[in-house]
Amino acid sequence: MTKLADIGLIGLAVMGENLVLNMESKGYTVAVYNRTVEKVDKFVNGRGAGKNFIGAHSIEDLVASLEKPRKVMMLVKAGQPVDDFIDMIVPHLDKGDIIIDGGNSHFPDTIRRTKYVESKGLLYVGTGVSGGEEGALNGPSMMPGGSPEAWPHVKDIFQSIAAKVEDGTPCCDWVGEDGAGHFVKMVHNGIEYGDMQIICEAYQLMKDLLGMSADEMHEVFKEWNKGDLDSYLIEITRDILGYKEDGEALVEKILDTAGQKGTGKWTGVAALDLGIPLTLIGESVFARCLSAQKDLRVEASKVIEGPKVKFEGDKAQMINDLKDALFGAKIISYAQGYNLMMEAAAEHGWNLNYGGIALMWRGGCIIRSVFLGDIKKAFDNNPELPNLLLDPYFKGKVEAAQAGWRRVCATALANGVPVPSLTSALCYFDGFRSERLPANLLQAQRDYFGAHTYERIDKPRGQFFHTNWTGRG
Ligand code: NAP
Repeated sequence: MTKLADIGLIGLAVMGENLVLNMESKGYTVAVYNRTVEKVDKFVNGRGAGKNFIGAHSIEDLVASLEKPRKVMMLVKAGQPVDDFIDMIVPHLDKGDIIIDGGNSHFPDTIRRTKYVESKGLLYVGTGVSGGEEGALNGPSMMPGGSPEAWPHVKDIFQSIAAKVEDGTPCCDWVGEDGAGHFVKMVHNGIEYGDMQIICEAYQLMKDLLGMSADEMHEVFKEWNKGDLDSYLIEITRDILGYKEDGEALVEKILDTAGQKGTGKWTGVAALDLGIPLTLIGESVFARCLSAQKDLRVEASKVIEGPKVKFEGDKAQMINDLKDALFGAKIISYAQGYNLMMEAAAEHGWNLNYGGIALMWRGGCIIRSVFLGDIKKAFDNNPELPNLLLDPYFKGKVEAAQAGWRRVCATALANGVPVPSLTSALCYFDGFRSERLPANLLQAQRDYFGAHTYERIDKPRGQFFHTNWTGRG
């Protein structure tokens, strides 16, 4: 009898193909299926030739070729196709079999699907997979959640294909119940939006304020990648700035309208739903939206005057300040992202391991960086840490960065160069460290027009007062 497969995969597109090649290279036999069935033979006889793959031409074939408990992983377009495949697979599975969704599904869908699949006596895993095509092939960061009973059955496969940090620890561990894995992946993507935007703001300041060439910026990013900012996104920015087409920097020929697939927006919406100030990521999503209004911006640029950009300060100092601004803002972004995860955990009853999440993001994924090792240490030192800014290491780093960061924001604003994420992060920092904010006035306004009442600082909390502000009856 031919050997049964360890796992089955539906969806032979970029991610699926690379992920199954990764699994096979670690010694697993994988059965593969795709909606457009011709792609199965094309793959098995092409990139998969001579390897341990079983090509399936129907869902029945796929299920029949799997070792029990059966594990069927989907890497298909997020949304309706995932529900459609679940409905097609469920009737062919037996109690205890496992359905896995490795796509970028929205976490409420994963919560719903986990309940549905469990109601059929089966187990469900919704796992974030980050690192794109290259990560899928050579080691992605993986963030699985769903039915806890499924984890022992998928753990070895997942951890063997995942990226590893220096000491060999896999960037994959159980995140939590139902939608927890996809929630954490969503926050990862939101943080990715933020990290990318602050780098873009630094680039614009270097270019428009300091008049630097792509070659000069390439050198700066090369330097930055050796210190606190050492990360995949700084590294690729360095390479992008150094890339030439016909002797000129290609980046300068690219249209300045940013695309987005929605995971940044989901992160912002989740923050608004949970009442968590996620300002840096929010501004990063809006910055992409503003960039997309290209025609309107071109029109406005012809009729609206701003200040003349003029920099007469010390260029080397400003570059150093920019590094501090990036680092300070990055700390804020992660502090905000972690606060969002903490609130979601409380809301959904997830027991998230915050240090473990930093470790999962430490390698394999787009936001991988040295910095995540320090976040892991912060939560190892205090698993109950309520905000990253209260960790002694990050508090010290932000305090050291703030003078330069303030100079960058002030100079950018005075010169009319937009830096929404760097400035909003600084405003959050100042708000967070303020004992008293002007919300006393705001409460008075609410009471004035809507009799919403207020509490007083000279009376115990929980007592509410209303004033007839106009004296009218
Ligand atoms: P994709 O373009 O998102 O999806 C293509 C796959 O979905 C194909 O197998 C396609 O089958 C199937 N499909 C599309 N519409 C379908 C429908 N209506 N019914 C049934 N099947 C349908 O592929 P991908 O880029 O490899 O991504 C897969 C998943 O991973 C997505 O959720 C994506 O968001 C996520 N992801 C992607 C990346 C990345 O870098 N690309 C990174 C992380 C996560 P046919 O061949 O028959 O069209």
